[in-house]
Amino acid sequence: MSYLRFKALETLSFKNFRQDNAVTVPAKLSELFCTNVFSEETMREYLTKEAFGSIMDAIKKGVKIPRHIADQVAVAMKDWALSKGATHYTHWFQPLTGSTAEKHDSFFTPIEGGGGRAIERFSGSMLIQQEPDASSFPNGGIRNTFEARGYTAWDPTSPAFIMGTTLCIPSIFISYTGETLDYKAPLLRALNAVDEAATEVCRAYFDKNVTKVTPTLGWEQEYFLVDSALYQSRPDLVITGKTLLGHSPAKGQQLDDHYFGSIPTRVMNFMKELEIESMKLGIPVTTRHNEVAPNQFELAPMFEEANVAVDHNSLLMDIMARVAHKHHFHILFHEKPFAGVNGSGKHNNWSLATDTGENLLSPGKNPKKNLQFLTFFVNTLKAVHDYADLLRASIASASNDHRLGANEAPPAIISAFIGTQLFSVLEELEKVTDGKLSPEEKTELKLNVVGKIPVILLDNTDRNRTSPFAFTGNKFEIRAVGSSANCAEVMTVMNSIMAKQLQTFKKEVDALIYKDGLKKDEAIFNILREYIKDSKNIMFEGDGYSEDWAEEAKKRGLNNLKTTPEALERELDAKFVELYEDLGIYTHREIEARNEVKLEKYGSVIAIEATVLADITRNHIIPCALNYQNRLIENVKGLKEIFGESEFKNFAKEQISMISQISEYVSVLKIESENLLEAIAKAKEKSSSQEVAFAFRDDVLPYFEVLRSASDALEMIVDDELWPLTKYRELLFTR
Ligand code: ADP
Ligand code: MG
Repeated sequence: MSYLRFKALETLSFKNFRQDNAVTVPAKLSELFCTNVFSEETMREYLTKEAFGSIMDAIKKGVKIPRHIADQVAVAMKDWALSKGATHYTHWFQPLTGSTAEKHDSFFTPIEGGGGRAIERFSGSMLIQQEPDASSFPNGGIRNTFEARGYTAWDPTSPAFIMGTTLCIPSIFISYTGETLDYKAPLLRALNAVDEAATEVCRAYFDKNVTKVTPTLGWEQEYFLVDSALYQSRPDLVITGKTLLGHSPAKGQQLDDHYFGSIPTRVMNFMKELEIESMKLGIPVTTRHNEVAPNQFELAPMFEEANVAVDHNSLLMDIMARVAHKHHFHILFHEKPFAGVNGSGKHNNWSLATDTGENLLSPGKNPKKNLQFLTFFVNTLKAVHDYADLLRASIASASNDHRLGANEAPPAIISAFIGTQLFSVLEELEKVTDGKLSPEEKTELKLNVVGKIPVILLDNTDRNRTSPFAFTGNKFEIRAVGSSANCAEVMTVMNSIMAKQLQTFKKEVDALIYKDGLKKDEAIFNILREYIKDSKNIMFEGDGYSEDWAEEAKKRGLNNLKTTPEALERELDAKFVELYEDLGIYTHREIEARNEVKLEKYGSVIAIEATVLADITRNHIIPCALNYQNRLIENVKGLKEIFGESEFKNFAKEQISMISQISEYVSVLKIESENLLEAIAKAKEKSSSQEVAFAFRDDVLPYFEVLRSASDALEMIVDDELWPLTKYRELLFTR
């Protein structure tokens, strides 16, 4: 019965003796950087001046690339790709499935009437557009079956790269009726919107030289590694990406000895190879370390322009899985693969950078720069305050629900941590006089409030790990994002709400300047004062994990949308639809379709997990428990034979008690797994995706704990040799 488990453990130890996966990192990693990327430097070499200029205009100013230039670029890209050994090309895109998609086409083209001759061909039209058979990608009802076609279109702002022998061209994915079907297309729109709004604010009040503002993103990716033989021995891990059963090991993460501890050799080899691959693809990975849980690790690159950073995260997740495979590991991006140990997140560090080289969320060297900082800082807080539910919805998923609010990740309540020092600066600004300011007040503000910011931030070492949205000196860190998520979704929301907020800010400040005759600075101070008052209730400096905060937040009127169905219900609020329509990010139909896709995904994820759970319970756990019970029965019978009716009970007491305990647990497993299957069937019958989602949450999810606790109790009773599922201690502590 437990054959697979022991076989896996044997395979693992055998593997550990082999040293064939030792990886040597070249002395200069930097020499590998971007070697597989059609980078700016490569383009300079391969493109004509005109074509290069055109691509740069597209990247920097969003100028459309003319058709004849696209033809030139295609030829250059092909020549470069062939020189690197590529044979195929693909539009590389990010559909709503959550993984990346590719459809490889060969460069190879036979010449018509060429008598067996062939050439490698790649034209502008092939570069610009591809038509993958898209009917099986999620679309939330947008594409009817009769209109199953979608197309992918080249995104020249993210560089093409080579993976294996394929030239990959970052692309967006749209339906023939024009609706977006992926993560990238709306992200690009949001980036564009915030660029326009932020540039206007900069130019009007702070710096005429700014012509472009680019959001920056630095993500931190957490993950687990599990030996692949052990992984294969757990059907729940293979099918759902997480363990559904398993007793906590005696040694969990209580000792905190894994965090920043030394990295095991086998893992180190994986990391080294991963870094080499990342370098070649231009992903500037810089840090690696152990995370809190055993076998959990984290990787973070230097931050980049948000669109490229999002692509790099998706690409990296793909490469991580491949490299892990080579090292006989399976990588887990699931937010909560193991009960009782920390889950994985993906922090999104976000800021805004100008083309004059400034970080708008970094305090400057003089009061004017600091007022610019305060403007963007306070507007961010206001945006998050006004659109907290939308931000919450953007990180909602069945798997992330296990993490949020479970004392290892921020709660589902959206709050902002800014540190005590900045908090007191905002309190000072709250006192700014309504309307015109006296010269004394202006001087006071300049010298003692705005002027002091860089000084105070320097010694502000506040770090609050319990906040979902924390200011960390020159950027905000969005900490509640799930490890398996595509960064694009939360980035689309963040940049959309910021765009909207900055538009409103500009209008309101202009009104004070042009209608009420206030000076620029006075007008800005007046508006910021109101924003600070408005947003104060999301500012929280304390322990976000505490019960007290949940109560306090409730008093403040903040939402605590603990589960995905609740969070997604809010997503369709008129206010959010209006935001997206105003900015041209999504149409109403797209919003509904995406909401539908997420609801469907929630229901099907839980349906799959629940079905696997019922199967394992009935096919693995119950038979194993009965098997062991039979042994105990044999033992009791034997004792009776030896000691006779009168005496045997003295010796068989414990065994008899175990026999009845096993019967009790087995009957719980039998009855409740049947009830679970019935609940799944009923939930699926509901008429809308929303009702289905709520039914899964309310009527199906509760069985998980019931079955698990009975099974985990049996795990503690049954002979280790018989137990069929690879145990937590084996999954988590064997490397
Ligand atoms: P820590 O928060 O652990 O002290 P850092 O402050 O160095 O670490 O940064 C954490 C992450 O934030 C890194 O991925 C880094 O690239 C990113 N980051 C730093 N500055 C910015 C910025 N201006 N915009 C976006 N991300 C940034
Ligand atoms: Mg972090």
